Amino acid sequence: MNIILCGPQGSGKGTQARLLCDKFGFFYFESGAYLRRIANEHPEVKAIMDSGKLVPDKEMTSYLTAFLDREYLYDDVIFDGFPRTLEQYNFLKNWLTDKNVKIDLCIVLEIPKDETIKRLSARRQDPKTGKIYNLITDLPPADVDLNSLIQRDDDKPESIEKRLQLYSAKTAVLIEELEKDSKVVRIDGLKSINDIHAEIVTIVESLLK
Ligand code: AMP
Repeated sequence: MNIILCGPQGSGKGTQARLLCDKFGFFYFESGAYLRRIANEHPEVKAIMDSGKLVPDKEMTSYLTAFLDREYLYDDVIFDGFPRTLEQYNFLKNWLTDKNVKIDLCIVLEIPKDETIKRLSARRQDPKTGKIYNLITDLPPADVDLNSLIQRDDDKPESIEKRLQLYSAKTAVLIEELEKDSKVVRIDGLKSINDIHAEIVTIVESLLK
């Protein structure tokens, strides 16, 4: 079963995806993390990401399919951050159809704009390990010096605003389209991590039956 996780940045997609992978053995594809690895060798990708804009659809879809083909990953994938546009969605839908699989479920984690800004502004990265922490919800262990943590360029207020605008403009249309093809479930992202997880597990189990 393939799942698309939607929701603005900071809505808890990563946390929920990891819990679902632990429980059901899904593979977690996080487009932002994957692109950040590509950006290490492609400064033009890094520049796009730092500005808060989207990587063009054509490049994005070819990066994605190259990775999935290399890993023979066509089913039991949780997609986080992809698709972000209608074009990416249509591409993925056709590509999966060719592999005789589909998107079975789309989970939308909803949080208000001020909550996204609050959560993302508190995000910090350890430059040595690349690990992401949150000064409010996910502090690093005691041996990590708080002063050594950095704020990613795309977590700065101007970039957050731009990403949120993009999210509303592009993803709203995308979700409408997904509703025509798959089960779409909207969940209040302000609920506790455990409550959200329990809600998603119930839905996934009902679809697996
Ligand atoms: P994220 O961590 O999901 O917020 O992604 C970080 C950045 O990676 C975004 O601001 C975009 O520049 C880029 N990115 C991630 N996913 C996509 C996608 N599906 N299409 C285009 N660009 C993307």
